[in-house]
Amino acid sequence: MALKQVIGQERALKILRRCIAKNRIAHAYLFAGEDGIGKKLTAVNFAKTLNCRNNADDSLFTAGEKEKSAVEADSCDNCSSCVKIDKRSHPDVFFIAPENGQIKVNAIRRLEESLSYKAFEGNWKIAVIDGAETLNQSAANAFLKTLEEPPGRSVLVLISSMPELVPLTVRSRCQRINFSPLPLKKMGELLEHGLSTERTP
Ligand SMILES: [Zn+2]
Repeated sequence: MALKQVIGQERALKILRRCIAKNRIAHAYLFAGEDGIGKKLTAVNFAKTLNCRNNADDSLFTAGEKEKSAVEADSCDNCSSCVKIDKRSHPDVFFIAPENGQIKVNAIRRLEESLSYKAFEGNWKIAVIDGAETLNQSAANAFLKTLEEPPGRSVLVLISSMPELVPLTVRSRCQRINFSPLPLKKMGELLEHGLSTERTP
């Protein structure tokens, strides 16, 4: 699937697409909102859009007459990059999730090492950190410098359904994007489309 198929999050998508259109991708985002409303789906499809081979040569970032297309920026959902990101096998897109209820410092150090290399295939290195409220104190401390100044062309996307529990030092270094609760009708549509199964890797 692609960004245009994320249901009920027009506001969040508009903000992200505007970042792309203006070539102002933040170092770090915090996708905040309750569980099951498409935060991770959006993060994955944001990564696909940034690295899609059909958006190569920075055409996404061409302002002026092409700005409209950047405002509608999306992935093709079909190229080798899009397919690898969907399969979680893209060498420049990293996924971190809590292990035994916590994101620990070792996971952050491994991520920082991966981000320090030049991108293998993609335009961007993207890290999706799910359950960011479970970053423990030492992991959060280790993460601060990278959050402030990630290596070139890296984007960190933190995801949390309990954003107030994300350590303040981490939260304050991210651009927060709030995701809306889904109205029941849209929930129904989602279930009908069977998209809920795509939420987990
Ligand atoms: Zn693609």
